[in-house]
Amino acid sequence: MDLSELASLRSAPVAPAAHVIDGERRFASDTATLEVISPIDGQVLTTMPRGTADDAKAAISAARRAFDDGRWSDLAPAARKAVLLRWADLIEANALEIAVLGVRNNGTEIGMALKAEPLSAAATIRYYAEAADKVLGEIAPTSPATLALVHREPAGVVGAIVPWNFPLMIGAWKLGPALAAGCTVVLKPAETASLTLLRIAELALEAGLPAGVLNVVTGEGSVVGATIAESHDVDVLVFTGSGATGRQLLEASARSNLKRVYLELGGKSPNIVFADAPDLDEAAKVSAHGIFRNSGQVCIAGSRILVERSIHDAFVDKLAAVASAMTVGDPLDPSTGAGAINSLRQLEQNLRFVEEARQAGRRIVTGGKRILEDTGGYYMAPTIVADVHPDDRLAREEVFGPVLAILPFDSEDEAVAIANDTDYGLASAVWTSNLSRAHRMIRRIKAGIVHVNTYGGADLTVPLGGVKQSGNGHDKSLHAFDKYFDLKTAWIKL
Ligand code: NAD
Repeated sequence: MDLSELASLRSAPVAPAAHVIDGERRFASDTATLEVISPIDGQVLTTMPRGTADDAKAAISAARRAFDDGRWSDLAPAARKAVLLRWADLIEANALEIAVLGVRNNGTEIGMALKAEPLSAAATIRYYAEAADKVLGEIAPTSPATLALVHREPAGVVGAIVPWNFPLMIGAWKLGPALAAGCTVVLKPAETASLTLLRIAELALEAGLPAGVLNVVTGEGSVVGATIAESHDVDVLVFTGSGATGRQLLEASARSNLKRVYLELGGKSPNIVFADAPDLDEAAKVSAHGIFRNSGQVCIAGSRILVERSIHDAFVDKLAAVASAMTVGDPLDPSTGAGAINSLRQLEQNLRFVEEARQAGRRIVTGGKRILEDTGGYYMAPTIVADVHPDDRLAREEVFGPVLAILPFDSEDEAVAIANDTDYGLASAVWTSNLSRAHRMIRRIKAGIVHVNTYGGADLTVPLGGVKQSGNGHDKSLHAFDKYFDLKTAWIKL
């Protein structure tokens, strides 16, 4: 991609953002705003509406009306497909502008942001658009006296609440299948990453998405998100974020209309390196990338590396070499390896984990501190902590930052025991050239994905979801469609 416009885009003024409700831009009902702070320099980038409960209710009503009158749900799936494909084209045509806006908002390095944000969102929307007219109903194998049909009907109004690390990628994982299925949506972006989701909602209108089908309301989770979660007019709630919020959403569903709630939560994913890994240099390079890309602000980050004791010290040295060679800094410089931490609060939380490990006598192999403070931005050196114990907080709780915990093991059984000794079960990896061991580990590790001799990179064709406290339900792949359809049986006596 031609990056020549980067320099002008990075300093372009950003107009005050507005909700997108019922096909129009709207400010908060009480006109209150939130400052949008850029993690690049800690400066105010623009403002956005501090949404009220009334704003969320207006968006939900718009989505309800749009669903009930059939302006979207009753369109032929091929017609919905045409609109969604136009939308994907518009996102792609504006990819650089959108990516730069997103980076100024959330700090992800531009190389990754381009690929993982607008381009990934466009690809996801296309994938589900193309599938829209290929979802078939069923005829059940009944006796000849009956005809039984199983219809798949769009589930209704979807509430989608998403986090700040990859707002467009994760947003599109919800919006693509929900809209292709014929649902209408009220989306609540994270406080520190709302601008690009608002921008693509405007592009959706330009592509011909009818008013009210996609509404985006910004503001605080405890106000806007909670109103969506408590609403009797929302039929399905899809969420990516922390377990603490996930719990509140389940409670809100129980208190209100028992809406279905699908949760994609955090992880403390084990990346297990056996001495017989095919290439330890490659394993170190990919594993370091598996934790330090987007400064560790990745739900599937391989944040615990379990290393077989016979290669432990040599492997830690290799990891440290990769980590210390990473360029951390200005996320709008295409040569940057890792950009900024999303917020000062997140940076301080990352540093607290390191400080606690230091005080417990764990070995800080590299990093461990804030850097580039003079820029005003929020940057942290890639950090490796060795000699971590399985019951340390660093081995059990998600940091969601560039902090890697290393634990040694002596046998396959011990590796499995340490790997599964966690409340989470999102991602994992095994590095080995022993095919039987790889298959044994795939069976024994409790996680939504087991990588073998790689980390990350699983494409749209496969589901992403967790077990245990990493969540339920799946994003990506055709399985993601299930969340947005209701099954209806017609039992016809002949
Ligand atoms: P968070 O739970 O604090 O916030 C996520 C979203 O929920 C935000 O939009 C927020 O405004 C909203 N929210 C907060 N309180 C709410 C409430 N009471 N009611 C309704 N909505 C509320 O999480 P975060 O800090 O933004 O994101 C980081 C977390 O997301 C990490 O735990 C990470 O692992 C997880 N994550 C998971 C995946 C996955 O696919 N499993 C992907 C990315 C991030």
